[in-house]
Amino acid sequence: VILFSNDIEISRAQTPKPVDQLAEEIGLLPEELEAYGRSKAKVRLSLLDRLHKQPDGKYVLVAGITPTPLGEGKSTVTIGLVQALSAHLKLNSFACLRQPSQGPTFGVKGGAAGGGYAQVIPMEEFNLHLTGDIHAITAANNLVAAAIDARMLHEATQSDKALFNRLVPSVNGVRRFSPIQISRLCRLGINKIDPASLTPQEVSTFVRLDLDPSKITWQRVVDTNDRFLRKITVGQASTEKGQIRETGFDIAVASEIMAILALADSLVDMKNRLARMVVGTSRSGQPVTAEDLGVSGALAVLMKDAIKPTLMQTLEGTPVFVHAGPFANIAHGNSSVLADKLALKLVGCDGFVVTEAGFGADIGMEKFFNIKCRASGLRPNVVVLVATVRALKMHGGGPNVSAGAPLPKEYIDENLSLVAGGCRSNLRKQIQIAQLFGVPVVVALNVFKTDTQAEIDLVCEIAKECGASNAVPCHHWSQGGRGSLELAQAVNEAASRPSHFKFLYNIEMPIVEKIRTIAQQVYGADDIELSPEAKAKIDYYNQQGYGSLPICMAKTHLSLSHMPDKKGVPTGFVLPIRDVRASIGAGFIFPLVGTMSTMPGLPTRPCFYDIDLDPVTEEITGLF
Ligand code: ADP
Repeated sequence: VILFSNDIEISRAQTPKPVDQLAEEIGLLPEELEAYGRSKAKVRLSLLDRLHKQPDGKYVLVAGITPTPLGEGKSTVTIGLVQALSAHLKLNSFACLRQPSQGPTFGVKGGAAGGGYAQVIPMEEFNLHLTGDIHAITAANNLVAAAIDARMLHEATQSDKALFNRLVPSVNGVRRFSPIQISRLCRLGINKIDPASLTPQEVSTFVRLDLDPSKITWQRVVDTNDRFLRKITVGQASTEKGQIRETGFDIAVASEIMAILALADSLVDMKNRLARMVVGTSRSGQPVTAEDLGVSGALAVLMKDAIKPTLMQTLEGTPVFVHAGPFANIAHGNSSVLADKLALKLVGCDGFVVTEAGFGADIGMEKFFNIKCRASGLRPNVVVLVATVRALKMHGGGPNVSAGAPLPKEYIDENLSLVAGGCRSNLRKQIQIAQLFGVPVVVALNVFKTDTQAEIDLVCEIAKECGASNAVPCHHWSQGGRGSLELAQAVNEAASRPSHFKFLYNIEMPIVEKIRTIAQQVYGADDIELSPEAKAKIDYYNQQGYGSLPICMAKTHLSLSHMPDKKGVPTGFVLPIRDVRASIGAGFIFPLVGTMSTMPGLPTRPCFYDIDLDPVTEEITGLF
């Protein structure tokens, strides 16, 4: 093995096989593939119909302990595991990963293609643009935003009759409602299809969405950590006639449309979900949807290619689907239901699909089970819980480290008491959280070169004491799939055991009880505390019939609690719920915990300082 110094050099040293060759190897027909260049292709959803009788493979979720600035390596473990299963155990396997966001790629964390000898290649294509899904999401989201503000301006400045004449234009002397308008009329209880037969009152009800500017929940999005857009004022040009209002931007990957992309199980389902998205409330308290704005068909058009997962490959040539987005703290942060379903059919009943949930098991995995598995109906066989000696030391009381600073000696020299402290606190708790869902847990210790044998043995021993069905060290980062053989064997063995999957809460429980159940049973909070605003929103959602949706908490990923600096297993805290939003198209209620922001910021020295392009060779440097 020639050792290269960084992830991008390792990636570049391996030429990916042509994507049509990869597709043929995994059983795709040429007409099921839409190539984007040489090494990526979108896969058509017709594949699901062709394979619908095929039994599913085994379903493995990779989650982690609470992240620290020292990194855990869930993506590398996911890729190392499929490389070991496919290339070394000769079991069909597929990794389902999320498309990285430009936010972390240029901000703090860097890309998300894995690392070392466990990567998706070409890593620069994986990390940047890919096949344009995030751009499509951004375009669709901002079309809704533009539609909202323009509609409010038009309603404010035109009579009912003028609005009606423009919304239902006369073609060759005949006015006809479009299908989307007929659907709105039905929802308003006006069962007429002849525009001439509407009474003036009905015309007014039909043309006026009457959005309350203070109750618009839809935000604009951009896929950059642009903190100055957290709060903005729009409509300041004189052409907008004083229709000024405060609003803001979220990061694109945390948008409702990204969640819809991840949770939809067909084009029809995606279209219906896009139409159901609630953008705000009318002055009379009625929810206003994307369909009311007339924009839902256009959204489906913008999203029609994004719904197809992108096929890529690992360094060892095994297949990967890349679909949907990250951010399990402020979104649900799981790859798509469709990618998982397609992959489960493609691997066949003895094969494995390994999918990744973002951040710690308390958020990414909890949302995987309670939101994604509820939507897909799929049931995982095994949870792989990733830990590192360094992160465990920090949970065991080791000093805090800021990004880029030199590592304190605790993280370089052997320190068994810190390791044991981290295992008996955060690792134990995250194993217990996985067990709440009744699925066997295998702990994967991602080995760094500073780890000693005694530290590695100690983690594996305590993990098993704490209830893991197995715990093994993994060397995929330095050795590729060969270094993850022990993990592949452990996962294969755990998948043959019965899994007694269950949800954490009954979907019919009141919203407050569902939030409390997650806070107490998963985060270890004593209780929750709702702000008056959160209480009022929950009452409103109940009134509107949204009470039976699952919960997608927006909470820091850096602690089991809402306090990012509290490592290990914090106790004796009450979880503050600042606000609650509803993503009706995606299908969840979205409580905001503490000061959690839906638009990250850039640090003083972001990753972009190191990213460059050689204009002669077109080689990119500095991505990791
Ligand atoms: P996560 O999915 O948990 O965010 P990644 O798998 O993306 O983490 O890894 C984050 C970074 O850490 C990558 O740059 C990767 O190369 C590096 N890394 C992961 N595992 C190791 C390891 N065992 N040794 C050295 N670097 C590692």
